[in-house]
Amino acid sequence: MEFQQEIIQKNYIVSQLQEFYPYCIEDTDKSTPEQIVLRTNLQNEEEAENFKKHYSAISNTNWIVYNYNPNPQKFVFSKTWLCHHSKRHKRIAKRNADCKAKLSIVIKKITKATKKTDKYLKYDMPLVGEVKISLLHTHNTTSAETLRMLRVNDEVRQQFYQYFSDGMSPIEAIRFHENKFLLEDNFIGLANASLNPTHNQIYYLHECWRDTNLGSSINPFDKLKEKVPFYESIGTTVKFHDDHLWAVLLVTPLMKRNHPLSSSKEIIFIDSTASKQRYSSRAAFSPWHWRIEIYNQISGYLIRALLRTLGADPKRPMNKSEVAAMVLIGSQCN
Ligand SMILES: [Zn+2]
Repeated sequence: MEFQQEIIQKNYIVSQLQEFYPYCIEDTDKSTPEQIVLRTNLQNEEEAENFKKHYSAISNTNWIVYNYNPNPQKFVFSKTWLCHHSKRHKRIAKRNADCKAKLSIVIKKITKATKKTDKYLKYDMPLVGEVKISLLHTHNTTSAETLRMLRVNDEVRQQFYQYFSDGMSPIEAIRFHENKFLLEDNFIGLANASLNPTHNQIYYLHECWRDTNLGSSINPFDKLKEKVPFYESIGTTVKFHDDHLWAVLLVTPLMKRNHPLSSSKEIIFIDSTASKQRYSSRAAFSPWHWRIEIYNQISGYLIRALLRTLGADPKRPMNKSEVAAMVLIGSQCN
């Protein structure tokens, strides 16, 4: 398969970088038609990594680590990356364009010896960072196909975690996020997976968010135990029974306040939680103000079994004494 070579415009790169790095200049002595060499005032590893992220965003490229050379005697920082369309560590054939483009960042030490050989270190603002960027790629960097293969950028990742924390499901987050681009007629942004992730990327982000916030599917109780003090601090009562069949009782301040209201007593509300898609097993059952959440593989069966234990017809609204009994069952599980 043959790939066209694409040359990324030097001038465009420099002008875009200078908006964020005003001291960034081109070292015209070292630059070649295939490679641009820049000097800038990067101070440490964090700033170097941020520079790489920033360059990735403006050039629609992603980079994988090729060589990290921690040598504090010689450099403050030295690292080289390869374009993510190189053949290195490539499991997905479609990403492999055998691209040879490299990006390297070195932060030099200021010593008498280095000052003698490097004029940029003598500036009032020493330009200790030396960045070398290959301008030749074996693939297009602006085609829709290439843009869809970019990795999600960190800010967008955090944005999606916030959507999920706000209660959106993955598909709701996808629509909400896409609409932002459509409202601005920003079709390039829409096609760019680093800004508008693919569905697979979003479902993966949701899995990461869920593991962090709801616990793993294997043992969700670790996370719940961790969160109980927080729930208690905001007035929510949480009781749970942890066995091969497991149950959780949750009573929020609102439920407690609504308990004496006659207007609440005829309401039965059955809801499903954000995690239902994952386990196909979560159900939240709220007779009146009391919410009982039951999590397990046969939650539907367990709800009916609980209702039968109470002598209740699952299809018939229960009275208050039955609700009290239901709560008692939750408490017995503790
Ligand atoms: Zn490339």
